[in-house]
Amino acid sequence: MKKFEDILAQNDFSRDDLVRLLEAEGAERTALFSAAAARKEAVVGKKVYFRGLVEFSNECSKDCLYCGIRHSNSKVVRYEAADEDILAACRFAWENKFGSVVLQSGELSSTNFINRVDYLVKQIKALSNGGLGITLSCGEQTRETYERWFESGAHRYLLRIESSTRELYQKIHPNNDHHSFEKRLECLRLLKECGYQVGTGVMIGLPFQTTENLADDLLFLKSIDVDMVGMGPYIEHEDTPLYEFRHLIKSKQERFDLALRMVATLRLLMPDINIAAATALQAIDPAGREKAVKIGANIIMPNLTPSAFRKDYQLYEDKPCLDEDADQCRNCLEARIELAGSEIGYGEWGDSKHFERRK
Ligand code: SAM
Ligand code: SF4
Repeated sequence: MKKFEDILAQNDFSRDDLVRLLEAEGAERTALFSAAAARKEAVVGKKVYFRGLVEFSNECSKDCLYCGIRHSNSKVVRYEAADEDILAACRFAWENKFGSVVLQSGELSSTNFINRVDYLVKQIKALSNGGLGITLSCGEQTRETYERWFESGAHRYLLRIESSTRELYQKIHPNNDHHSFEKRLECLRLLKECGYQVGTGVMIGLPFQTTENLADDLLFLKSIDVDMVGMGPYIEHEDTPLYEFRHLIKSKQERFDLALRMVATLRLLMPDINIAAATALQAIDPAGREKAVKIGANIIMPNLTPSAFRKDYQLYEDKPCLDEDADQCRNCLEARIELAGSEIGYGEWGDSKHFERRK
């Protein structure tokens, strides 16, 4: 069997190597984290970039079995934030020197929705003289829609594959044409062809998921040559069908630890990409995102969603920052990032170095 330190010294990793890294405990875990922290500093530097997150609507046509705002959850109070509130949140981001914003929502395909996102993208560009970077996370769309939003000024897109293991993907999504693994893959390909910086990711600690599945996820991210990754622990929500399988999942602390090992291992596997410290980490550990920054992540998404709507965008239980306004959120993050030994890249887009290289 290979020595752990020999695996750490490699530039490329087999599936077995990745499983070893993902299962590291004690001194091996410490060595993994130090190697990932050193690789991060050497390749992408110490800066952490803010992307102000605006969850502008929780209307969704899909029924993902894990998600609290799925279409069939009739307990959810549905909202669409007003344009002026969304733009005010983006203006806050611009005035506070956040490099970029992320517009996120449930998945809709109506003409109204497509036009509205297009309008918002143009308005955000206008209010910042083109200065704010715009990431969209609005689900699966047609090539025409992706192209249109790109031409209007969006330049990054987040669409998690959720799990790259087809059978697991199928277990956590309803079995119909509307939730197709192939379509998800196709969308990731389309986004790249349209010119976006493409971000994807997975949930960690899902029922039925094995460490081998997670190693395959990492290999998948590498194989599609992704620019950015956002991945975090799966967290149960009692009003979703997947809740029934909660006896199969690891404890929250174990999911959290596994998520940190995923981040550190990914930093070794793809040193020049952007890796987000997922909000779901903070739902388990109040310092969760800062811990991820220490060992490999370089992107944080402070929540700028108008506070009146935050309680209605409950993807999972204990979602953090429900009662903070944007100012409080920024101040609290700033202090924490500094504690994690990093600095904030104010006023910079902080594009993925990987994207710049592959352009
Ligand atoms: N509707 C778009 C989509 O699905 O791509 C964007 C919004 S969706 C709420 C964003 C992400 O939330 C999903 O990609 C999923 O990974 C994550 N999510 C949903 N339910 C979750 C849960 N119970 N635990 C952790 N993450 C969850
Ligand atoms: Fe809708 Fe996205 Fe939730 Fe799926 S994960 S139900 S597409 S909001």
